[in-house]
Amino acid sequence: MLLVGLTGGIGSGKTSVSSRLAERGAVVVDADAIVRELQAPGQAVLAAMVERFGESILLPDGSLDRQAVADLVFNDDAARADLGAIVHPAVRDEIARRVLDQADTDNVVILDIPLLAESGWDGIAGTIVVDLDPEIAVQRLVEFRGFTEADARARIATQASREERLAKASVVVDNSLDLEHLEAEVDKVWAWIESQRTAQRDA
Ligand code: ATP
Repeated sequence: MLLVGLTGGIGSGKTSVSSRLAERGAVVVDADAIVRELQAPGQAVLAAMVERFGESILLPDGSLDRQAVADLVFNDDAARADLGAIVHPAVRDEIARRVLDQADTDNVVILDIPLLAESGWDGIAGTIVVDLDPEIAVQRLVEFRGFTEADARARIATQASREERLAKASVVVDNSLDLEHLEAEVDKVWAWIESQRTAQRDA
């Protein structure tokens, strides 16, 4: 297994990159998707959240009301810390489990973890950083993802800065241009991955 981190700011194009890496044969472990799975009805994480925050975080069908949670932790550091203490260890355990499942394979495993720039991960061969001018990220979040401009800017402001992320990069994907350019950037990343695999085999 070759374990590689993938990170980038909100709306930078992590999913667009990871899906293209999957087309080239990589196994993608997507932290956001794991969070959603662990917060599904019947899961221990959702039960612990209800115990802490009350039934008001549930929609009538019993699923999580994400906006209600966002509203509860907004401007409440203690609530935000409690939420993190419930969700983050469970997500890390599940990621670790999925990585362990791949340990004895020849697969390239991509860890798509938005907070990787802040938290790191043991055993990664390097980190792919999807880089984009935050102004373009704001435009895309508004145009394609239904964010208000103020919300997009507020979310970006809570994350690691562009410079902090770039300082951790082994290879950078420039996603400031069109999708054709992104495809060429992903080819460049795949060549880097192949060079890492060769280095790992020769070690
Ligand atoms: P999040 O941080 O919310 O998980 P993300 O980093 O995974 O987002 P994507 O969902 O891949 O980002 O991209 C954000 C939006 O921008 C999507 O609607 C995507 O289709 C679009 N997008 C990504 N790359 C480009 C590009 N090069 N040109 C135009 N649109 C793009």
